[in-house]
Amino acid sequence: MTTLLITHPSSYEHLNPPGHPERTDRLRAIESVLGESQFEALKRVQAPIAPLETVALCHPMDYIEEIRNASPKEGFVGLDADTTMSPGSFNAALHAVGAAVHAVDEVVGKRADNAFCALRPPGHHAETVRLMGFCIFDQAAIAARHAQKKHGLGRVAVVDFDVHHGNGTQEIFWSDATLMYCSTHEMPLYPGTGALSESGEHDNIVNAPLRAGDGGDKFKAAFESRILPRLADFSAELIIISAGFDAHRRDPLANLQLVEADFAWATRKLMEIADQTAQGRIVSVLEGGYDLEGLSQSVAAHVIALMRGRD
Ligand SMILES: [Zn+2]
Repeated sequence: MTTLLITHPSSYEHLNPPGHPERTDRLRAIESVLGESQFEALKRVQAPIAPLETVALCHPMDYIEEIRNASPKEGFVGLDADTTMSPGSFNAALHAVGAAVHAVDEVVGKRADNAFCALRPPGHHAETVRLMGFCIFDQAAIAARHAQKKHGLGRVAVVDFDVHHGNGTQEIFWSDATLMYCSTHEMPLYPGTGALSESGEHDNIVNAPLRAGDGGDKFKAAFESRILPRLADFSAELIIISAGFDAHRRDPLANLQLVEADFAWATRKLMEIADQTAQGRIVSVLEGGYDLEGLSQSVAAHVIALMRGRD
């Protein structure tokens, strides 16, 4: 069993203003925990940069150029209430996309069983022509379209357990019957989307909102009653996880009460379905997670599960 760990130093060159929760220390905490001996078996590679044509699978080229042209020469430029670019941000975002599509290439090409992409900025709030919520390009959605276009896969699903709803992936997938988006998230909470009634043009969107204070039991019930059956019926040939860890009880941005073991449980459940319909193919992409201890321990539990480690 080979699990791929994809990183890139450019992720450290995407800077947000001091005090911003989406910070480079997140990756330092993750790289530190994944440096422990229990992760020796990971196959570690650096992300390639994504060509702009790949980003254009989900975002129009003139919009991509607009973002590139907005990059500051120094300091910061704010593009949204909480989304900022520094001089290294555009390059970092292209590597975050490059990691996700490289993971698809390696997993579909059977050179790895599954993969975890630990890069930033995150992506699931980025809509077709609107960046927001710390996100510039939606790498999970792009990876799904890339799997279809380059490898000829039919149906691809993105499952998102970040505590925030992935409005970007939902918007991009909304009218595409070949793509499914499933999400657990706290509601009401930023960005405000993700109601049960939002189900896409082809019933291909599956939202399972949770309430502030909900813990592992409610999270597991939402997965088992709503997400897993729909995912199994959809028969995805690849499952992409938008792996945000801000539903952890320690996280400062939200109010769910998950612990590390809950993320490991969800990972194993998704692997069971991937084993049934997708030849085990899973690509996991880091989204949120802002408490360094909660984030690093949750990533560790998630990656141990991907490596088919301890139950
Ligand atoms: Zn989040």
